[in-house]
Amino acid sequence: MRTICALAALALGCAAQTRPVTDAEVERVGRSALLVDTHNDITSRTVDGYDIGKNKNDGHTNIAALKQGGVGAQFFAVYVASSYVNGNHAAHRTLEMIDTVRHGIVERYPNDFALATTAGDIERIHRQGNIAALMGIEGGHAIEDSLGLLRDYFDLGVRYMTLTHTNTNNWADSSGDISKAGVEHHNGLTPFGKDVVHEMNRLGMMVDISHTADKTFWDALATSRAPIFASHSSCRALCNVPRNMTDDMIAAMAKKGGVIQINFNCGFLSEKSAEAAKHVQDSTLPGAQGEDATIAEYRKKVPPATLADVVAHIDHAVKVGGIDAVGIGSDFDGVFCTPRGLEDVSKFPNLTRALLEKGYSAEDIRKIYGGNTLRLMRAVEAEAKREQSN
Ligand SMILES: [Zn+2]
Repeated sequence: MRTICALAALALGCAAQTRPVTDAEVERVGRSALLVDTHNDITSRTVDGYDIGKNKNDGHTNIAALKQGGVGAQFFAVYVASSYVNGNHAAHRTLEMIDTVRHGIVERYPNDFALATTAGDIERIHRQGNIAALMGIEGGHAIEDSLGLLRDYFDLGVRYMTLTHTNTNNWADSSGDISKAGVEHHNGLTPFGKDVVHEMNRLGMMVDISHTADKTFWDALATSRAPIFASHSSCRALCNVPRNMTDDMIAAMAKKGGVIQINFNCGFLSEKSAEAAKHVQDSTLPGAQGEDATIAEYRKKVPPATLADVVAHIDHAVKVGGIDAVGIGSDFDGVFCTPRGLEDVSKFPNLTRALLEKGYSAEDIRKIYGGNTLRLMRAVEAEAKREQSN
């Protein structure tokens, strides 16, 4: 094996794969970056009164851990489960989820968080030593087919919307049910779906294609006048699940200034984990024992992915889309399994070290950690300004 590596080193740079990295360098580079994580689901718990300020908890996220991990800005998911579509409760749930970010997190801990709605806000809040808190809606059914509600959510501070969750809605197909019989599909975005994208452009809300069906992605890319992004998706070439992006998608999105934010869910990083996860009963469905049973079974049956898997996905996305097209969308507290070495928000320094060892420069890491997302946000803000002045 060593001989193969030595021979390959001449042609492929195998020997340059790792280099020694000191703790001081990890800290220096981490501190020089503004880490923006574009997807965290702790809000699904704070909405029920869970305390993000409690230091020791059983989740992936708390204030002390965010600081330890060097998180500078956190997009909190305004996640609206598809079950709220029944009986038209989606808008109600959306407002509760927005409230938990504004009231349950930011107002409750004003010395740790400040609400941000622009790239400039993030930089200002970071300079002041606080964590910038932002909101992204997960699931386009949240707008209940109303551009008026979309505008209301923007006014309340929402700065991205995932066009679908795992459910196809009235105007966009989801990867979650695209091959399910009996679901009425639209072949991507409907004409109204395209209106939604245009209104998001006009407002300055980022178009998020995580969870969407492939055709929805291509329609969104063709329709949007601003760059689009994937708030929490990984690479399908390395882990073949429909939730991940193909190389063609990553390259096309990058060409238009978009960013793929790598997801840390074991089942989106490692095919071994994904395969095992298929055999876990979803006990979170109504009538079953609840989420705890699913988590217990998951821990028993699904082998965790690793920090090396995360680095491999980042590295692959950089090779396909370029260094300006990759970011971080952890999905912490939204998944049952996180990688060994990146178990929670406090572990980002491990990723910094692994990227440095892999040969990424401090400047590369600053782009991946937040520079690319800030650039994307500024492009979306500029397009909105242009359209509103016309
Ligand atoms: Zn998600």
